[in-house]
Amino acid sequence: MNRVLVTGGAGFIGSAVIRYLIAHSTASVLNVDKLTYAGNLSSLASVSSLNKGSADSSKKASADSSENLRYQFLQADIADQAAMTKAFNEFKPDTIMNLAAESHVDRSIDSPNDFIDTNIKGTYTLLQVALQYWQSLVVAEKETFRFHHISTDEVYGSLGDTGLFTEDTPYDPRSPYSASKAASDHLVKAWFHTYGLPVIVTNCSNNYGPFHFPEKLIPLVILNALDEKPLPVYGKGDNVRDWLYVDDHAEALVLAVSQGKCGETYNIGGSNERTNLEVIETICALLDQLRPRSNGHSYSELIEFVEDRLGHDKRYAIDATKIKSQLDWQPKEDFDSGIKKTVLWYLENSWWWKSIRSNNYKGERLGVSSQKETKYSVEI
Ligand code: NAD
Repeated sequence: MNRVLVTGGAGFIGSAVIRYLIAHSTASVLNVDKLTYAGNLSSLASVSSLNKGSADSSKKASADSSENLRYQFLQADIADQAAMTKAFNEFKPDTIMNLAAESHVDRSIDSPNDFIDTNIKGTYTLLQVALQYWQSLVVAEKETFRFHHISTDEVYGSLGDTGLFTEDTPYDPRSPYSASKAASDHLVKAWFHTYGLPVIVTNCSNNYGPFHFPEKLIPLVILNALDEKPLPVYGKGDNVRDWLYVDDHAEALVLAVSQGKCGETYNIGGSNERTNLEVIETICALLDQLRPRSNGHSYSELIEFVEDRLGHDKRYAIDATKIKSQLDWQPKEDFDSGIKKTVLWYLENSWWWKSIRSNNYKGERLGVSSQKETKYSVEI
């Protein structure tokens, strides 16, 4: 892979992928991102002097980076066929990594429209443009071209107390978010079987780590605790997620697209299951050590149980045997090491999250427009 077009590269995982590609490969990268509320170019300050983030973040950019000719940014919608065609023809990618998406379940409950537009229609547009471009390539270029679609384990539905999602688990999405991702996965596989487009699909468990938008569970809990705000827990806090450190995901994605077999799905997961309550209690214990409260009490005093999310999936857990055995991937972090790194990163990088907390996202609860009003925002 020499020329990688990454969509959604200003988001949480996309920016980790771009930082990884710039640090660990010689590839040139075009980041195509619409810059929705979730897109933040300051997450790429370390790879680009072309950063167009906030005043705070541009300070960070000039401190961190020199002109990087291997990285370019294009603000565009993946559902805009003309813009995508122009981007493909001018950049001439050999690899597409499609991470552009609406990604927050609670937002999908309040307003599914954007999820249909980006996750389904956007992926469809990108597939059509990629197909036309791929068909125009010479044979040798056709063989090395890859279209990698990045997806979620939520397409598989919800598990009971036991069992794991494998690549053969039937799709059973339950939320507008997971249904739109499932639809996009099916489109990508159809473009492989019908037209021969060389695709790879990966389905990953919950990610966490630096540069995670503050509406998601882990950053929300860290930042609410620092602000002495309630730490809201949905229902009893017994929903289970399998957590993967974002840089381990980025490494797995680059491995999958460069060494995976066309037409295949690879599940990626951390084998680190935790209930939401365990996650929150771990963060409180870390903050108690690293940034003790002025009153000497534990941050866990701030925990508050709130009404559950509509249709809240009980448990997700990934069987990552295939990518481990076939592509020799292993995560470097377990949950204990990764969560400590993450808490420390938020403590040391208020330049990144302060403007988001004060401008884009003020901590309102999402996904409850059909329920009674409540003052909290919770969970992913
Ligand atoms: P994110 O919400 O942080 O970032 C999404 C990015 O896509 C943003 O920069 C946004 O501006 C951009 N975007 C949205 N609509 C666009 C459009 N129409 N055109 C171009 N850009 C657009 O999401 P994330 O957490 O980084 O997730 C990336 C991908 O990984 C998604 O496909 C998601 O389904 C998948 N995934 C996420 C997780 C997780 O835990 N976050 C786990 C498994 C899979």
